[in-house]
Amino acid sequence: MTDFIDLYSMLPEELEEYFLSIGEKKFRAKQLFPKLAHGTPISDMTDLSKALRERLVRDTLDTLPRVEEKLVSRIDGTVKYLFRLHDGECIESVFMRYKHGNTLCISSQVGCLMGCRFCASTLEGKVRDLLPSELAGQVIAASRDTGERVSNIVMMGIGEPLDNFDNVVKFLRLVNHPDGLNIGYRHISLSTCGIVPKIRELALVDLPITLSISLHAATDEKRCEIMPINRKWNISELLSACVDYYNTTKRRISFEYTLIGGKNDTREDADELAWVLKRAFAGTGAPIHVNLIRVNEVKETGFREGSRESADSFAARLESHGITATTRRRLGADVNAACGQLRRARVKGENV
Ligand code: SAH
Repeated sequence: MTDFIDLYSMLPEELEEYFLSIGEKKFRAKQLFPKLAHGTPISDMTDLSKALRERLVRDTLDTLPRVEEKLVSRIDGTVKYLFRLHDGECIESVFMRYKHGNTLCISSQVGCLMGCRFCASTLEGKVRDLLPSELAGQVIAASRDTGERVSNIVMMGIGEPLDNFDNVVKFLRLVNHPDGLNIGYRHISLSTCGIVPKIRELALVDLPITLSISLHAATDEKRCEIMPINRKWNISELLSACVDYYNTTKRRISFEYTLIGGKNDTREDADELAWVLKRAFAGTGAPIHVNLIRVNEVKETGFREGSRESADSFAARLESHGITATTRRRLGADVNAACGQLRRARVKGENV
């Protein structure tokens, strides 16, 4: 897949294989994995002989992201990172402090192919997938920079995680490993715009993470208008994959619904949403939860944010149908914490 050796993407068994292949002992894998998992540079691994260190530095590529720029919110301390990758590309992550622990929102690709009309990350298309080490590297770099442990990860930054399936699954195993960062699967959420076959594949991989579905509309007509993916897999195909996912994993699924003023935020939209979800999950016993997000205005998209009150009444309407709904708290409003905006400004050579 890659034409260079990327130690930071390797699980212990792969490290073992690598060390055996260069004539080293197997135990090196056990020795190095915890250090690699915490982002220790090879040159700092002084328990290795100088010759081995030099060889590793020469033969492998350090793929860990570097902090290129960092914006700290004066309102709530949220930190938005622009990371520089080994090939010069940039991605973003957002570090948020919640009562239940520090959460990092990470990117899964450089750019995105999905074309959702309200989203800044997709405006320039996709450049490439991120490696497992670049996914985990965001957690490592943010944690090193803040000096604080990241206990929760949400895959809601730039890119579509299920369009980078193999690397994402590998990353999940890496960060969950007890000898590594040891982040519980239950503390990791993966958000998708709805790549149906991959949702089905994810159910079979059987990692107890939380799946979030970016639904954003309750009718195919409206969803096709804002999310091109819906032309490939419509709402009924998507929800049927979700029901199967729930039946296989018994993991609760949450639905993301971005409220766009005058587009999908009326009382009728709320009724339609409640109806479509309840009908799909009828008889499964699955709790249905909707996360409401007021759209973050992105200049190019022309969509506008509805009022706080209309979000509250949308939530209340869902609740009246027996569906729990939370309105996402805005963190980092002053650092443009919506995904894709910082990278985009950088790509276009604007100052932020
Ligand atoms: N591709 C994945 C994950 C990245 S987007 C997905 O589609 O789920 C993460 C979440 O942010 C999605 O729910 C997405 O729809 C939402 N989002 C993107 N742009 C937004 C904006 N301008 N305002 C509010 N939410 C946005």
